[in-house]
Amino acid sequence: MKEKEKTVFESRRFLMTLLSNLPGMVYRCLNDKNWTMEFVSMGSIKVTGYTPEELVNNGIITYNEIIHPDDREMVWEEIQKSVKEKKHFEVTYRIIAKNGSLKWVMEYGQVVSENGSDPVVLEGYIADVTKRKIAEDELKRKTAFLEALVKSSPDAILVVDENRQVIIQNQRYIDMRKMPPEIVNEKDDHIRVKYLTEKLRYPEKFVERINYLYEHPEEISCDVIEQKDGTFLERYSSPIFDDKGTYYGRIWTFRDITEIKKYQFFLESISLTDYLTGVSNRRRFDSFIHNEWLRAIRIQHPLSLIMIDIDFFKNFNDYYGHVAGDECLRQIAQVLSNMVKRASDLLARYGGEEFACVLPDTDNDGAYIFAQKLKDGIRALSIPHAQSSVASYVTVSMGIATMVPKQGQSESAIIEAADKALYEAKQKGRNLIVRNTETVS
Ligand code: GH3
Ligand code: MG
Ligand code: MG
Repeated sequence: MKEKEKTVFESRRFLMTLLSNLPGMVYRCLNDKNWTMEFVSMGSIKVTGYTPEELVNNGIITYNEIIHPDDREMVWEEIQKSVKEKKHFEVTYRIIAKNGSLKWVMEYGQVVSENGSDPVVLEGYIADVTKRKIAEDELKRKTAFLEALVKSSPDAILVVDENRQVIIQNQRYIDMRKMPPEIVNEKDDHIRVKYLTEKLRYPEKFVERINYLYEHPEEISCDVIEQKDGTFLERYSSPIFDDKGTYYGRIWTFRDITEIKKYQFFLESISLTDYLTGVSNRRRFDSFIHNEWLRAIRIQHPLSLIMIDIDFFKNFNDYYGHVAGDECLRQIAQVLSNMVKRASDLLARYGGEEFACVLPDTDNDGAYIFAQKLKDGIRALSIPHAQSSVASYVTVSMGIATMVPKQGQSESAIIEAADKALYEAKQKGRNLIVRNTETVS
C-alpha cells in the first residue's frame, strides 16, 4: 500500500471506530418526508433499536415512522426552517423505539449540500436524552411545587446561599420587613442586614446572632426579634444541606407574633396583679422579695419590709358589709401605692386585708419614717369605723424588719421578722408601728 493510501485508510478506520462507539447515532439523510437515510452509524441500535441496515434506504421502516406521530409535523417544520435559512438545527422530540418504548431524543444537524435542486442532504447526530428529560421535568415539577409553597406560606420566607446572596424571598417577607424596592432587589445579605438593623431595638444582638449562625452552619435557631415600632417577629433559621452534606446556605422564616406577645404581656401582668385593688399580688411579692434578697446579699445593703394590716377589719365587714369592705381595701391600696413611688420599691397585697411594702437599700430608720407617712396617709382617708376600739376611723398596724442578709439565709427570715413585729403591734393595742429591733443591724 502506498503511503498516501495508508494514511487515508487509517483515518477512515479511525472515523469508523469513533462513529461506532458514539452513544448517539450519526446520520446522513435526504430532506424528504420519510427522512430517507443514506448512512446511519451503529449508534442507531442504542437510540432506536433498529440496525443501520434496517434504516438505510427505508429498509424496514422510515425514520419518519419512528418519530412520535404527535411530533412529526413539528420536527419537519423546525428542520425546514433551518434548511431555508441554511442554519444548523437543534430539535428535541419523542420517538418510538423498536421495542415500542417512548424515548426523548435531541437532534443536532445541518444542511450539507444544496445544489439548487432537491433533495437537500442533512447530516447530524441524534442522542437519547430521555433520562435528562425526565430529570428536567422532575426538577420543573419540584421547582413549581416549591415556588407555590413559598408563595402561599403564611410565614415570611428568605433563603440566603452560602455566599450570603439572597436567592428566594416571598412577598410576605417583603411586606413584613417593610422593605423599599432598592433593598428588595439587593442580593447581598450584608447590605440588607445593615438596613434591617436600623429598625431593631437590639441591633448588636441581632447582627451577632446572624454572624454566629452563618459561622455555624449546623445550628438551628429560634429567636424573637423586637423592632423599634413595637412589633415582635419570631425567627426560625435552619441550614440547607443536600444528601451528601454539602452546605447551600440558610432558610429563614419569620412570623409576626406582636399580637401573641401583647396577649402574653397582658396575661403576665394580670397574673401579677391583684384583681380587687390593682396593686401587685402575692405572686409578684414573692418573686420580687426573692430577687431583692439575693441582691442585698450580693451588695450587702439593708433591705426593709413593712407589713401593714387593717385593724378590726372583720368587724368592719360585719358592720358595713362586704362590698364596703372591698371599697375600703381599694382606697387603702390606692393611698399606699400613690406613696410607694420609687421604681425600686414594691407595694403588694400580701393577703386578705394585709399589705406588704418592700424597700430595697433602705435602713430601719428610713423604713420607720416611711411607715409613718403611710400611716398618716391612711389616717387622712378617715374611713369611718364604728366597730373599732382604737379609733372612729379605719387604722392599720405595721411591723417593720430590716436586714442585711447573709449568704445561705432565705427571705422567709425577713418576712417572719416583720410578721413578728406586726403581731407585737396588734398585741400592744393596734394603730401602731413596731420595729423588730432584733433584726436591725
Ligand atoms: P386585727 O385587728 O387583729 O387584724 O383584726 P381583723 O379583724 O382585722 O383580723 P382578722 O384576721 O380576724 O380578719 C380579717 C378580715 O378581713 C376577715 C375577712 O373577712 C376580711 N377580708 C379579707 N379579705 C377581704 C376582701 O377581699 N374583702 C373584704 N371585704 N374583706 C376581706
Ligand atoms: Mg390580717
Ligand atoms: Mg386585720
